[in-house]
Amino acid sequence: MDATTITLNNGLPMPLLGLGVWQVNSDAEAERVVRMAIDAGYRSIDTAKIYGNERGVGNAIRACGVPRDQLFITTKVWNDDIRRGTVSEAFTESLGRLRLDYVDLYLVHWAIPGKITSTWRAMETLQRSGRTKSIGVSNHLRPHLDELVPAAEIVPAVNQIELHPYLQSRALVDHCRDQKIQIEAWSPLMKGRDLLTDPLLVQIARAHARTVAQVVLRWEVQSRIVTIPKSVHRERIIENAAIFDFTLTDAQMAQIDALDKNTRIGADPLHVAF
Ligand code: NDP
Repeated sequence: MDATTITLNNGLPMPLLGLGVWQVNSDAEAERVVRMAIDAGYRSIDTAKIYGNERGVGNAIRACGVPRDQLFITTKVWNDDIRRGTVSEAFTESLGRLRLDYVDLYLVHWAIPGKITSTWRAMETLQRSGRTKSIGVSNHLRPHLDELVPAAEIVPAVNQIELHPYLQSRALVDHCRDQKIQIEAWSPLMKGRDLLTDPLLVQIARAHARTVAQVVLRWEVQSRIVTIPKSVHRERIIENAAIFDFTLTDAQMAQIDALDKNTRIGADPLHVAF
């Protein structure tokens, strides 16, 4: 393990930084941005069936020249398939669109009431088939995990949740750490909204001659949280990856820890209406 990687609870490595591709709205655009990111040094890509761009991601993976075993590819099963009980079929279709033999991580996109344990059984079967190296969840809060984990034979490797300095979910993060479930931050830049003009973050960024986005992403990886910022712009893709050559002081980490406002910008995982 090096400074850019964490080890999951099954012993497999996962890059601390990846590229998110939600709202990269065509396969051609996804192919372009994933190629740019891999050229910039990214080795992890986060897609999902619902993003509608798995084909483009797969095209970039095949064209990029980096061996498959040096890349970490995540996709997710969507809620309709969870409700229908067609997790296995959805997985096979995702692999087909990606044109890959396996993914590194397959995630349950949202916790659907009444389906949590049956979905996890199907996920466990997929991991045992070897077609996904690891399985995990997304948007699972404490009540969801309290239902899933006692019934699980394989503890989720990852829980991907909305997380940024204004939504730190400390109790959930601590609980996942106790369970050896790796936290992965979605919307890690809070979608580029007011977080990026926060006066304290601006001041810390100036002190390091960095951008606020870099400080936020650095705070995440320095907290051992996997982060997957999305950008379609080459300069920002490069900027967001330049976070492993500086260190926030303990005092700066504590100051950012104190910014939590419990401000959620995405959907509340306890009320999934889609
Ligand atoms: P992010 O917090 O990554 O923010 C992305 C936005 O910030 C884009 O508008 C981007 O603009 C802008 N941006 C990126 N870098 C910079 C920068 N350096 N300076 C200023 N602005 C910047 O939000 P996302 O919601 O996209 O989250 C990231 C990923 O997380 C998603 O792509 C997806 O993979 C995953 N996700 C998962 C969810 C889940 O339910 N599991 C839900 C939501 C996201 P531009 O592209 O124009 O550069």
